[in-house]
Amino acid sequence: MRVDIISIFPEYFAPLDVSLVGKARERGILEIRLHQLRDWTRDVHKTVDDTPYGGGPGMVMKPEIWGEAIDAVIAQAGPAASPRMIVPTPSGRPFTQETAIEFAEEPWLLFTPARYEGIDSRVAAEYGSRLRVDEVSIGDYVLAGGEAAVLVIVEAVGRLLPGVLGNARSVADDSFAPGPMANLLEGPVYTKPPVWRGREVPEILLSGHHGKIARWRRDQALRRTLEKRPELVARLDPAGLDKDDRKI
Ligand code: SAM
Repeated sequence: MRVDIISIFPEYFAPLDVSLVGKARERGILEIRLHQLRDWTRDVHKTVDDTPYGGGPGMVMKPEIWGEAIDAVIAQAGPAASPRMIVPTPSGRPFTQETAIEFAEEPWLLFTPARYEGIDSRVAAEYGSRLRVDEVSIGDYVLAGGEAAVLVIVEAVGRLLPGVLGNARSVADDSFAPGPMANLLEGPVYTKPPVWRGREVPEILLSGHHGKIARWRRDQALRRTLEKRPELVARLDPAGLDKDDRKI
């Protein structure tokens, strides 16, 4: 997968050299290209923002600069290919595991993280007429800029790419994964030693009985979801529930 990120803080993306995503880059599974938005400015101050029409506090990022930057990045691949453009914004659709799976199927993603009060709205409208554009929010809170949101999205998407995780099954067992974990939070996990500070690992996990362990894990996932995210339980597919699920 190719990922382009245009930002006024390309240095913010240093963590993409580390851990799983860093290894995916080294192995050529993920190619990340960072671009400094200010390289497309023409004034001596390298201005990327201006006052908002209609008044009010804060500044808005200028459409001409973004337009030139996006055009230049898209042109690098020639006319045959175009990216899916992802615009982080608190007013976007929520970014979920489902969205991560959807993005992981794309060959090319282009991120446009903003600062100040965001990018002039004509930019998303303009590219929306030629590319697939998604305005996405990583949560109901407001960050100072979109860079942290891009880090979140790239990591969630990157770990889904084939060959990135050592064991592809870990993705299937994760919270929110499609299939048996859809709309469920993963339950508690344990490793050695069997007793730590007087706290024992649940006996069932030491039993070696795979069927009972799977049932216990499912019960724990259902209980945790009921306790911490009851609104998710309403979204469970009734057809996917068995009689033991209904006892919880
Ligand atoms: N005035 C905007 C609003 O209320 O919707 C907030 C602008 S915020 C200070 C600056 C930038 O940070 C946004 O344009 C976006 O790129 C990014 N950002 C902030 N919160 C975000 C979130 N929850 N999800 C995704 N991006 C976010």
